[in-house]
Amino acid sequence: MGLVPVVDQKSGFCYGVIRAIKQAETYLKDNNQLKSLGSIVHNKLEVERLHSIGIEVIGHIELEQSKNTTLLIRAHGEPPSTYETAKKNNLKVIDCTCPVVLKLQERLKKGYEEIKPENGTIVIFGKKNHAEVNGLLGQVNGDAIVVENKQDLEVIDYTHPITIFSQTTKDPSAFSEIVAEIKKKAKEAGLPSDKLTTHNTICKQVSSRHPNLREFSASNDVILFVSGKESSNGKVLFETCKSTNPRSYKIERESDILSEWFNPGEKVGICGATSTPTWQLEKTAQYIKSL
Ligand code: SF4
Repeated sequence: MGLVPVVDQKSGFCYGVIRAIKQAETYLKDNNQLKSLGSIVHNKLEVERLHSIGIEVIGHIELEQSKNTTLLIRAHGEPPSTYETAKKNNLKVIDCTCPVVLKLQERLKKGYEEIKPENGTIVIFGKKNHAEVNGLLGQVNGDAIVVENKQDLEVIDYTHPITIFSQTTKDPSAFSEIVAEIKKKAKEAGLPSDKLTTHNTICKQVSSRHPNLREFSASNDVILFVSGKESSNGKVLFETCKSTNPRSYKIERESDILSEWFNPGEKVGICGATSTPTWQLEKTAQYIKSL
């Protein structure tokens, strides 16, 4: 079809994922196997590759039964209870919690200590049951309200102080909308403005991708967004592409691609989430060339 693939040079793994994978690979140079609590990345092909070099993904139930071995904690972070289990089971921990997430955990804990004596509420804008959010909730004994959308705002007590945080991979504009709505409700309830504190804790590695992807999507005829189905930032970043270029398609692997999406000679932009490896973007480009 003479298609022209263009790989987005600003896509690919974020710093936190690169760091976690490097630490796992370094360990596996001298060891045969490493247990990872959850997948290091939400990307099937990369998980398959990591499995082939010795990474075994386990869940929290298997963690309880794992003893005297090495455990990798991925970039999303974990609640304190995971570290307690690891200690109890004599596990050696390779802690790959992203420093950005670690900082957020600390800020959340501090915010909680400040606000609790005043019966205040911690609000986390994030996805319920997401690993990072579970790790954050663990810092405050689960005593926070996780907000996914405006309907979730009804349960907040607007008569006492409120401190808002965000999961690191959320959409910045959605966060602004939620904050504006909370501010409105707090004002209606008569809460003094200095009793409402907002911390925009969205990771710069994610937020900076939105303007870039808008520009990239506008400059190509068709967009192929490569991402695992479970990737939280993948969903958000794909929506940014789709809102700029309606001919955007989210794919997990090459076999998802349909030739009817393209006209001969078109420019096909290939980009992805923070959990999409560059090698997969390049491989997709080779496939597009061959059509
Ligand atoms: S998106 Fe940001 S916070 Fe999350 S792992 Fe990557 S670098 Fe760390």
